This record gives sequence, C-alpha cells and structure tokens, in this order.
Amino acid sequence: MSVSIIGMNCRSCKTEIVEFFSLGQMPSINVFLKKEEEFSGEKKYNLSVGFCPKCSLVQIIDTIPPKDLFVDYVYFSAVSTHFLEHCKENAAELTKKLNLGKESLILEIASNDGSQLQCFKDLGVSVLGVDPAKNIAKVANEKGIKTIDEFFSYDLAKKLKEEQNVQADLIFGANVLAHVEGITDFVKGVKELLKPQGTAVFEFPYVRGLVENKFDVIYHEHVFYYSLLALRELFKGADLEIYDVKMTPMQGGSLMFFASHTGAFPIHQNVQDLITKEIESGFDKLETYQKMNENVMGIKKDLLDLLVKIKGEGKKVVAYSASAKGTVLLNYFGINSNYINFIVDKAKAKQGLYTPGTHLLVYPPEKISEEKPDYVLILCWNLADEVMEMQELKNWRQDGGKFIIPIPEVKVV
Ligand SMILES: [Zn+2]
Repeated sequence: MSVSIIGMNCRSCKTEIVEFFSLGQMPSINVFLKKEEEFSGEKKYNLSVGFCPKCSLVQIIDTIPPKDLFVDYVYFSAVSTHFLEHCKENAAELTKKLNLGKESLILEIASNDGSQLQCFKDLGVSVLGVDPAKNIAKVANEKGIKTIDEFFSYDLAKKLKEEQNVQADLIFGANVLAHVEGITDFVKGVKELLKPQGTAVFEFPYVRGLVENKFDVIYHEHVFYYSLLALRELFKGADLEIYDVKMTPMQGGSLMFFASHTGAFPIHQNVQDLITKEIESGFDKLETYQKMNENVMGIKKDLLDLLVKIKGEGKKVVAYSASAKGTVLLNYFGINSNYINFIVDKAKAKQGLYTPGTHLLVYPPEKISEEKPDYVLILCWNLADEVMEMQELKNWRQDGGKFIIPIPEVKVV
C-alpha cells in the first residue's frame, strides 16, 4: 500500500509519522455559531490521522491552537445521566481499590464542572480540580469544588508542588489524555504530583474503536487514539509504569488504566494479556488502520442512500445530539439541511445556536414531539439506549416514529 510521508514527528517518541485517514476540512467541534452572518467567516482546518511506526501511537496530524479551543466551551458534563452514574461508580470503585480515605487527596485533570470530584467529595475524600475552561471552572468553584482554571502542564505541577505542597494519592483524568498535544510534558507533570505510593488513573476512548469503524471519535481536539502498546512507551518515558487496565463502556468503548512510579506495585497479568491481544489484532501495524478508509466509505454510502430514500418518500428526518461525534459525522458525510430538518440537543448551552460546519439550528428535544418527524438519526449512537428510552420521545415513538443508528453500521429500529 502507498504511504504518504508528511514530515511530521510523533508527539511521544519523535519518529516520523505516516498519514492513513483524512476527513478533509473540518471546523472546530466546539465552535457553535450565534447568527447566520457568521457562516461565511467560519474557520476550517485540515483533519487527518497518522500512525507512528515506532511506538504505534495514532495521532491527529494538524491541531488547532489550544487558545482557540476552550474559551467558551459549551459542554457541561452534568447533562448526561449516563455520565453521572459512571462518575458515581468510578468514585466508589477507585476509593475502595486504592484505599482512599479522609487523609487522601484526589487531583482531577480536566475536571469540567466538578461532577466527578463531587462524587469523591461525597465519600469524604479531599479533592482538587484543574480545568482550563474558565466559565466551567467557575461553575465548579461556585459549587464548592476547588478548581484551578489553567491548562495542566509540568510547570503548573511544579508550581502546585512547590507553592501549595500538592501531592496526590490519586490523579484522575477522563477524556483528557487524548486531548493534550504536549503529552510528554503532561505526563512529566503527573509524575511530579504523584505520591510515592500514589496512582494515576486515566480513561479515554480506546483505539479499537477506529478499527471498528467508529471514525466519529476523530476531531482536532482529540489528538491521540491510544493503544496500551503506545501508552506503555509514553509512560515509560517519564519513569512511570502501567500496572493495571480495564475496559469501560464510556464513549462507545474506553480503556481505563492505572499507573504508578516504576516498581511501586506489582504488574497485573491483564496488562500483558492486553498487549498480546493488541499485537494479535495488528494495533502495531499501519495496514490495520488503513482499512478504515474502505469501511467508513461503506457507512457513508449506506446512510446517504437511506436519507435520500426517506426524502424521496416525502418523509422527515431530524438529528439527535449536536455532540462532537455528531459534528464529525454530519460534516464528513456532508449531511446538512438538504437531508435533515433540524437537530436537537439536551444541552441548553447549545440550543438556539447553529452547528459547526453544517449550520443546523439546535432545538431542545421536546421539538421532536411537537414536529413529529418520521425518523430520528441518533448521532450519539453510544448513548442510543438512553435516547430511545427518553420520556420526551415516548409518545412520538408510540405514534410510529423510528430511529436511525449510523455506527458501527447503519440500522433502522
Ligand atoms: Zn511514536
């Protein structure tokens, strides 16, 4: 197979990476537009993914500068009930597994509105959050979850250690490790703030999703798609060691891992088991990822054929969820108001705004029962069960409304 050399080095091991999948020009998934006059000036950036032949790390080629990304971030973690349940489970499980108590400190990186830390705090553990989104950190602080509104880095870690004597028993991060471009500096910062017997726990969408056609996890802000193979090398570089791993259902398939200072804990057998499985699955080979191109084209064809057929029958389709996933899928497949009548989202902060790139006006979910479309395209397909059981959609469903689930393959239910 032909490979394109792009003159870019791996952000972990500095070896030259190879591009294997491109989604063309894409706006930032976080920048919703307030009025129609903004459409023509909307910024778009190249979105493509590469593979490191040395450490196997899959990564975005071009990113958007961080200062443009989080200024007015409209995602609040508290909107998904599924997510809140997961936070509670995490808190209970980690507190028990790591023997955390009143004397312990938990530091969460990218702590958002403090939903996860609140669950730890409810169990009597001290908590501290770091989140660069100023508006969201403010919400957390007002709720009594102390949150520093800065990007986490080695410099910030050093400052916290020297000036405030911060040393954590648990450093936790969900969906952050994949988003930080300066990842070696970030991991060095984690090392700096971890107590000698402390554990760092991170959770993020697992790279397996890419080879299972879940291409809508790809966006500029999501810089890395980790395998355990790639992670182990990254952490080794900061003299940290991964000693346990587990799979979780978040984001349609996530990996959670436990890291410590080298030698602090015995390494669980499941670490080696997963490494073996990854090698068997070809996660260390470029060809494995290149297969995405053909597979995703198949989904695009199936979905567009279906939407065209529905339109031909004079029926209506609306989309559910103006999430990152939704934005990526709509833009990459070119699904705009020619196919979709409108889009709904539970997040109040997004309602009344236009979606990035496709410029669909976002309404609250109640709009579905008012307008009674024939189909609802679920863009947050990983939460399809939650959406299909929503009270607001019950009557519409009973009147014959149908759902379209696009990924990992197009189906109507
Ligand atoms: Zn590398």
